[in-house]
Amino acid sequence: MKWVTHQAGALAVALWFKAEPLMSAGMVLGAVLPDLIEQGISRRDRRLFLAIHRGFFHWFGLYAAGLAVMACLRPAAPAGVVAAGLLLGALSHIALDALNPGGVPALPLRDRPRLRLPLLSTGSLREWIFLAGLLALIALGGHRLDESWFRRLAHFF
Ligand SMILES: [Zn+2]
Repeated sequence: MKWVTHQAGALAVALWFKAEPLMSAGMVLGAVLPDLIEQGISRRDRRLFLAIHRGFFHWFGLYAAGLAVMACLRPAAPAGVVAAGLLLGALSHIALDALNPGGVPALPLRDRPRLRLPLLSTGSLREWIFLAGLLALIALGGHRLDESWFRRLAHFF
């Protein structure tokens, strides 16, 4: 799955559920977080990246646990809102990667079994059609936003 598809997916969900502007921004950034972490660890060493890609940092439990910790600690806004958005975005990344033939790990620190529903290959025509659908959802979701959402957004500029 391409990053643009991951980010469009997170934005579509954020807008559809009228998430706070800061939460939405966090979700769009978090939508590429698992890949960014792996790139950071592998320091652009392609062999290392391929060895760890869609491994531990693509395990949903990691980010779900982060959300559970946040629900207990209730960190103050705005950092807490952005952090929750990052974690939700990361979960959306993993959900979309599960649509790839390779899937994502079902368990931590183990490559098998994998969670997968192989509907889309990265860069395939199906992915582009899926992205077009997400863009339509973004347009519909944006249309649903009310004046107060835009006022909260304008607060940051
Ligand atoms: Zn990924």
